Amino acid sequence: MLNLILFGPPGSGKGTQSEKLIVKYGLKHLSTGDLLRSEIAQQSQLGMEAKNFMDKGQLVPDEVVIGMIRSAIENNPTVKGFLFDGFPRTSAQAAALDELMELKNTSIKIMLAMEVGEKELMSRLLKRGETSGRSDDTNEEVVKARIIEYHNKTAAVADYYKQFNKVVTIKGEGTVEDIFNALCNEIDLKV
Ligand code: ADP
Repeated sequence: MLNLILFGPPGSGKGTQSEKLIVKYGLKHLSTGDLLRSEIAQQSQLGMEAKNFMDKGQLVPDEVVIGMIRSAIENNPTVKGFLFDGFPRTSAQAAALDELMELKNTSIKIMLAMEVGEKELMSRLLKRGETSGRSDDTNEEVVKARIIEYHNKTAAVADYYKQFNKVVTIKGEGTVEDIFNALCNEIDLKV
């Protein structure tokens, strides 16, 4: 299997690049943000619980997100690989993901970490808020809270994968096509 993590702060372009990567490499896209928004749309209990956190720009509790990813992996037993987008976002999620991969006798091949400057992130997110219909993109305070959560809890997840030499850093500024090519070059070097 080819299992990849696309990593980076909110607004770094993970969603955009994921759409292209899954087509090229035939992977199953697992975005915890998308899965959570779909739970909210269905008004499930999980969705209602998650919404309270998401509206404030806070991370949803680990056990909720881990359970959701576990089901998504179990529901896709025959895929060539997974592209994880927005997950793992905490050290506990990273440890849980390792276990889930081990159960399938596989592992994470590479973490692609996209780097984008703070000012650019803020402006991209607020711009996205004009059209995305996502309430967490329109409010500047919520956008800031998400970036703070990223620095406090998520940035360290890259250190976890660095121990195993699995992290490559990609500059997330430039054209969508150039960034995509840079990501593909790194993947092709590893597989
Ligand atoms: P972005 O990366 O642009 O903030 P996402 O769609 O990945 O957008 O996430 C939106 C929100 O969903 C986050 O602010 C957070 O509340 C919640 N969320 C998504 N993924 C996770 C996760 N792995 N752990 C905890 N909360 C998450």
